[in-house]
Amino acid sequence: MIHPMNESPLKVDRPSLTVHCDYLVIGSGAGGSVAARELALAGKDVVVVEEGPYLPLEQFRGPVGSLTRKLYRSGGVTPFFGSPSVAFAEARCVGGGTTINGGLLWRTPAWILEEWGRIHGLTLYSEQVLKPHFVTIERLLGVRSTVHVEGNEDSKLLARAARSLGWKVSAARRALGNCQNTNRCPTGCPTGAKRSVALTYLVEAQEHGARLMPNVRVCSLTHEAGRITGATGLFNGNRVNFIADRYFLAAGPIQTPHLLKRSRVRSSAGNQLRFHINLKFVARFSSPIRADVGTIFTEQVQEFEKQGLYMMASNCLPHYVAATLSHQSRQEVESVLTDFANVGLFVAQVRARAGGRIYSPFDTPIVMQSIPSEDLLRIGFALKRMGELLFKAGAVKIYLPLRGELGVTSSLELQGVLDRMVPQRLELITVHAMSSCPMAASPDRGTVDEYGKVWNHSNLWICDSSTLPDNIGESPQGTIMAVAHEILRQHVSQH
Ligand SMILES: Cc1cc2nc3c(=O)[nH]c(=O)nc-3n(C[C@H](O)[C@H](O)[C@H](O)COP(=O)(O)OP(=O)(O)OC[C@H]3O[C@@H](n4cnc5c(N)ncnc54)[C@H](O)[C@@H]3O)c2cc1C
Repeated sequence: MIHPMNESPLKVDRPSLTVHCDYLVIGSGAGGSVAARELALAGKDVVVVEEGPYLPLEQFRGPVGSLTRKLYRSGGVTPFFGSPSVAFAEARCVGGGTTINGGLLWRTPAWILEEWGRIHGLTLYSEQVLKPHFVTIERLLGVRSTVHVEGNEDSKLLARAARSLGWKVSAARRALGNCQNTNRCPTGCPTGAKRSVALTYLVEAQEHGARLMPNVRVCSLTHEAGRITGATGLFNGNRVNFIADRYFLAAGPIQTPHLLKRSRVRSSAGNQLRFHINLKFVARFSSPIRADVGTIFTEQVQEFEKQGLYMMASNCLPHYVAATLSHQSRQEVESVLTDFANVGLFVAQVRARAGGRIYSPFDTPIVMQSIPSEDLLRIGFALKRMGELLFKAGAVKIYLPLRGELGVTSSLELQGVLDRMVPQRLELITVHAMSSCPMAASPDRGTVDEYGKVWNHSNLWICDSSTLPDNIGESPQGTIMAVAHEILRQHVSQH
């Protein structure tokens, strides 16, 4: 059902001291919403708990700064410590990442699924198995290719330059209705054009009886003899108990393994973490491009996808430009902001081999990671290719994500910067983390089996990004949801 703008389609419930249900779904994002809908449609009594708040559409018109604090964990940045460190951003709100993301939704590339079989020994996930799930997801979220006539000059410049170099460019496939170019994707689409799960899956789940309880953080699971016996949460500082027959955990790539570790359900959860690396570029052009008139991006450069590199524009607002240039001098930042109409913000996304590990000594997890030399080569390749592309697109100055470097004005200067690159000075960010509780063919290789069931536990399943066996290179929401659908299909057919 499509809800008109300004109507809040979700009702929220307050938890009582003890909540009983058939199924407790922890987390309301990409993965959790699939569990909520599929279980509710199957007639189960479902409660969805979500740590973050529920914000109806009209609130997404507020200031970017305060929305970022409300909708993201830790105000927007969770560090993955290392040398260099990586700044991770993830949602903490109803709808999870789908509320604040770009809505890009691709089908899992066939060669990635082939790797899941060949390298990870998984037998269930093939293109044929996932295809009907993608058809459902695409229908419910209104996924389509976006090509805008108005605005999005940054995407158009990049795509034209790539095509002139003979590089492959594809129209972005997004969960999108009638995009109004408000350029507010990262803080919740105020028009409802972006079809988050809060406007779709969770609404349907509620229509079939599911109860949604935002502002509840599940702090621990209790268990006995391989069975989860309850979950303890905090709501407004008060303790609440949940008692369910079965539990679906979908708290995202960091919090899912953290909860398993803190609750001593599975100490090896979070021993692996995979993520993409985003390199952000600010580019100045000699004439106005008005990159703020548009959406996140409309076309993506995919020439180097097999080498793990995608290039595209990004939501361009003064806040994001200033944050990207935080390693530049105040005068330089001011001069760029004064010239804002001529400025664009661009991203090179790298499929890193870097490995992370999640530690849970406190209530807040600590993530450590290290970037191997093969990733530094990929990063160098990405910096060079994106630099070349932006100059081809007409950029007169490019600021690279490297501390201590001023902007470059030619390919020669770019090469000089790359030749003297010090890895510790890289400014790395990521918004795609996964594989921290990977599916595996045996308990010694992962946290869950191919059906999402936590090894050696009879009533606990995981259905979020943490179950993906490896880094998939592309934006992960589609794959997360398709795998969750298959986990739920198998589950509902057996229970
Ligand atoms: C800015 C940004 C842009 C992105 N753009 C894209 C894009 O365009 N396309 C794409 O495919 N991907 C994109 N992503 C990534 C994508 O959104 C995530 O990979 C995806 O949402 C992860 O799904 P998930 O179900 O694992 O976790 P989430 O969707 O993050 O959901 C987990 C939910 O669990 C809640 N939670 C956590 N711990 C607890 C707890 N203890 N108790 C209760 N609730 C808890 C969280 O608050 C959160 O709402 C983007 C991400 C960001 C941050």
